[in-house]
Amino acid sequence: PATSLDQIISLCKRRGFIFPGSEIYGGLQGTYDYGPLGVELKNNLKRLWWKHNVYERDDMEGIETALLTNRYVLRYSGHERGFTDPLIDNKTTKKRYRFDHLLKEQTPETLDAIAASFGIERNPDMDIFVDALLTDPTKAQTALKAAKVVDAADGKPGDWTEPRTFNLMFKTQVGPVADDENFAYLRPETAQGMFVNFKNVLDSTNRKLPFGIAQQGKSFRNEITPRNFIFRVRELEQMEIEYFVKPENAPQLHEEWIQDHIDWWVNVVGLDREKIQLFEHVKLAHYSSRTVDILYNFPTLGFDELEGIANRGDFDLGSHSRANDTLGLTSAVAPNEHSVEKLTYFDHETNKHIVPFVIEPAAGVDRGVLAALCEAYDEEVVNAEKGDIRVVLRLKPALAPIKVAVLPLAKNKPEIVAKAKAIKKDLQNQLGMRVVYDDTAAIGRLYRRQDEAGTPFCITVDYDTLGQSKDGGTELLDTVTVRDRDTMAQERIAIADLLGYLRARLV
Ligand code: ATP
Repeated sequence: PATSLDQIISLCKRRGFIFPGSEIYGGLQGTYDYGPLGVELKNNLKRLWWKHNVYERDDMEGIETALLTNRYVLRYSGHERGFTDPLIDNKTTKKRYRFDHLLKEQTPETLDAIAASFGIERNPDMDIFVDALLTDPTKAQTALKAAKVVDAADGKPGDWTEPRTFNLMFKTQVGPVADDENFAYLRPETAQGMFVNFKNVLDSTNRKLPFGIAQQGKSFRNEITPRNFIFRVRELEQMEIEYFVKPENAPQLHEEWIQDHIDWWVNVVGLDREKIQLFEHVKLAHYSSRTVDILYNFPTLGFDELEGIANRGDFDLGSHSRANDTLGLTSAVAPNEHSVEKLTYFDHETNKHIVPFVIEPAAGVDRGVLAALCEAYDEEVVNAEKGDIRVVLRLKPALAPIKVAVLPLAKNKPEIVAKAKAIKKDLQNQLGMRVVYDDTAAIGRLYRRQDEAGTPFCITVDYDTLGQSKDGGTELLDTVTVRDRDTMAQERIAIADLLGYLRARLV
């Protein structure tokens, strides 16, 4: 596996997985473009997720909702308010401190209250911190460290993140007139699409609880400091599920999703189980009764979030419902003056309308791609004396951008080239996965290039294939060499057997 993020960044640029966005104009911070190999890897990851979470279950439906979102969706979701708090996190305890209105009236009382929220007494450094939060957030982290704030969560001086003081949502103008009314938000998560379509999906599919809705797609967050390559970006992609359940079943089903998704990251994506940890949130978001993050031990970054799995109770469906004070909600929600629906479910067993609880497994596609790359990356010493090191991506075949590369041993030999191209075309048609033909370098170079791309198999067409072996023999006629990416072992396989050979190994 990779030992630093730089190894991955360099490979991604060199081989065409991921490039900085708008690069020739100096870039656009927090955006990345997926290149020829990256788009395949990302699509494969998403496809495997969809297969596992939608096709292989009997209780799931998929949707794809608009990125441009009516502001009321994000008002009642809590984002208009909730995404504007200044936040600061303790990296060790993951405890999150929000300041909200306390900051706006900077009185001795509120300064005391802020210090108290950290479990300490007000001191001059603490005041500098608060001042920095208001005037120059980039100085707040240093000030907080200087204040030697001991985090009550673990009793140690905190290792603080930089504060986040903005609303993270992007606004965009809709229609020709730019004013305070004609705007929409770019969605900050895909989740709201599932909530606002709850009734549509329920009515059109006749689902019974428990059932879920899945979606994959872009989300936008104006992160204060995008960083760590594709780990924290402003235009991100998510794969999220809202799984609707009867309230009494929520804790149990929550646990099942956590276990199921750990297994998916390990068995399907190929992450090392030893590098996965769970993080149980102590201080919970207002809507959540339990949130567990699945963390992966990224090189350079250490353990950080891949996916969050929350039990959100009845907050979302309740909050988006009209007359929500009549629904007997367990969550505290604001009265809704704009929704025209009650997002309830008629329970035929009890003859009652209920507001289902929701379990939300929410994962980042980009972080998944990054984890898969970090895990698969390997530098193998082929010949220590010559300093020959092979970079190889040991991706699961199902994730590999290219499944098979067909390579001619001699590109100036028309019969070899024609045979190789014919094999490529045939395999492409039969396998329905990406197969490439490449003759742009000598065979050794071509192999190494495919190793870096993570291509599980290279097929080489040579003189033997044509029945023109050096010793004059013809017994290798219509056979090719198949080289295994991981072992570099080569096998002679009859062309007629290729498809079966590959199919068995590419699942
Ligand atoms: P973080 O604490 O890292 O900001 P979050 O808890 O805000 O993440 P969620 O709102 O739970 O994230 O979003 C679900 C998933 O979306 C995260 O687990 C992560 O994989 C991904 N994600 C969130 N923000 C970003 C981002 N800025 N860049 C890339 N992926 C992200």
